[in-house]
Amino acid sequence: MTADPLESAQEPTTSVDAAREPPRQRFILDDTGFDEVPPKYRRFYRKWRGPDDSLAPNEVICPVCSVVIRSSRELRPGDRVYCMPCMSRLVVVRAASGRLEAHVSY
Ligand SMILES: [Zn+2]
Repeated sequence: MTADPLESAQEPTTSVDAAREPPRQRFILDDTGFDEVPPKYRRFYRKWRGPDDSLAPNEVICPVCSVVIRSSRELRPGDRVYCMPCMSRLVVVRAASGRLEAHVSY
């Protein structure tokens, strides 16, 4: 198991899909001082700074604890992510607004 909260990515299964889907953008994560998880995992989370904050393509807000979950890869609808601070398993969905949101997965 890797430290990355992105547990299972919705990868294209056929060559047709692979041709249509652009490769995922990769991101270098920096430690923002998030200290609610062990040091090894800190760069994968950050605090949401409020309405003036914005999310990168590799970030999604946990609906349970409002922490920003960050992956080293671009997130897409259908991806499963794990929020370590509150131990929630989440699934990434495309909201009506066009933004990515995480919903609790049961
Ligand atoms: Zn959470």
